[in-house]
Amino acid sequence: MSTPQPQPCVVRGAQTKNRCSACARAGVDLFFCSTAHQQLVWKVHRMVCGPDKAKPLMPPPLEEDELPAIFDALHLEIPYEDFQRDITSLTLTQASQAVRRGKITLARGMAVLWGEPADDFPLYMVTGLVGSRGITWLAAHPTVDGWLLGLRPYTYKYARIPTDVKAVYHFPARYVAAALEIALDLADDADSTTLLRHRSLLLAGILQKVPPPPSGVIISAVQQFVDSCLVYDSFEQAVAKFGGVLNVVKPVLAIELSLQLHGDGRISHCVVIPPTSAT
Ligand SMILES: [Zn+2]
Ligand SMILES: [Zn+2]
Repeated sequence: MSTPQPQPCVVRGAQTKNRCSACARAGVDLFFCSTAHQQLVWKVHRMVCGPDKAKPLMPPPLEEDELPAIFDALHLEIPYEDFQRDITSLTLTQASQAVRRGKITLARGMAVLWGEPADDFPLYMVTGLVGSRGITWLAAHPTVDGWLLGLRPYTYKYARIPTDVKAVYHFPARYVAAALEIALDLADDADSTTLLRHRSLLLAGILQKVPPPPSGVIISAVQQFVDSCLVYDSFEQAVAKFGGVLNVVKPVLAIELSLQLHGDGRISHCVVIPPTSAT
């Protein structure tokens, strides 16, 4: 393998040639200047590290602590248009019975999709399974596991983003990462998007670290993250994008972001401004 050009450490930004070798074999370059910085995010990074997981990015297995959020999501009313866009096999006749005021609950949508008459079929099924068999059995049951994995993106997409630090710690890292991905509007699986998805998970791991790393580490990690997702959006798009990122980060650290422009109006930098109490 050719020696990579030095790039900033995803945690502190120091230029380094050290990258995660397992991910590099999968075609994903994540640079860490030290073992300590690699270990800081290993808990979340290992979920998607290396060939067969890093690219194409495989969703990590369901964790038990994700289930409460997924069950809650079953009651969410989401715009039917969104559901239809995501799951095209829902027929018009089936849908007309399940849609009210242009909205549909995930439970109803899933019931229709699975051809079951009971509105709450998915909820019965899942709570019944978890109650009687437990998570171990559930994880070994490919149909149900696949079905829950299918619900996961809806959970992340429509559930409320945590607004206080306790909630950020309460939700699984994958949820926080997904909130960052939604803020960035990552919609496809291009190489650059895959890399950003990895980086969103790494940042989520840092934001959720218990005990929290020093604020300087969090600030530099956020700076590395926003640097990595700087594309030459319009000012308005960039404000919306990084505003969404801030919503996810701010429960942990009250930072601000300042966008700096080229003369032609393109974004040149996004600078993390630490809390006024920090130096
Ligand atoms: Zn480092
Ligand atoms: Zn890796």
